[in-house]
Amino acid sequence: MARYTGPVCRLCRREGVKLFLKAERCYTEKCPMNKKKSYPPGQHGQGRKKVSEHGLQLREKQKARRTYGVLETQFHLTFNRASRQKGVTGDNLLSLLERRLDNVVFRLGFAGSRPEARQLVRHGHYSVNGRRVSIPSYTVKPGDTVAVMPRSRESAKMKYLAELTAQRPVPAWLTVNRETFQGTVDRLPSRQEIDTALEEHLIVELYSR
Ligand code: SF4
Repeated sequence: MARYTGPVCRLCRREGVKLFLKAERCYTEKCPMNKKKSYPPGQHGQGRKKVSEHGLQLREKQKARRTYGVLETQFHLTFNRASRQKGVTGDNLLSLLERRLDNVVFRLGFAGSRPEARQLVRHGHYSVNGRRVSIPSYTVKPGDTVAVMPRSRESAKMKYLAELTAQRPVPAWLTVNRETFQGTVDRLPSRQEIDTALEEHLIVELYSR
């Protein structure tokens, strides 16, 4: 499936917020969003000011897609799934995005960024409830155990990632054991526990047009 392979910092500049698409760089002064060059990319980047309501809704949807690394069709399918569930559609959408396996691996600190988590999941480095899962969009549920595969735990890459993410906070709906490279999903995430800067009601309005 086609994926965006261009410069990712450009996406942050486009959305005007940090999307944390790189591992270490996002947390340092090297991040372009910390510099003067934080205006949107392109010839008219510094000139665009007025945005219509539809434009705002569209930008919010793009921001969500780019944050979680989901393509348009899959994002729309996730939205449809959220709208069929009980409760608030926007909250359901964020919950489904947060519970993607690649996001959970990132949140547990087993990967430096979501794009890296996606790639490592694809390469079969993680298991859910003891079974290898290589589908980044796999949705975890309360009670699931996500772990680094035993052979992968020994790799230099995993040891490096463990050091890199040691100080990164883990959301309250997840529990991690860094010694055993295991994490558990204790419950569904509440909206307050999802720190992604999104106004999901704009996405709901966009798809409800
Ligand atoms: Fe680049 Fe990360 Fe900064 Fe985004 S947050 S601009 S990906 S360094």
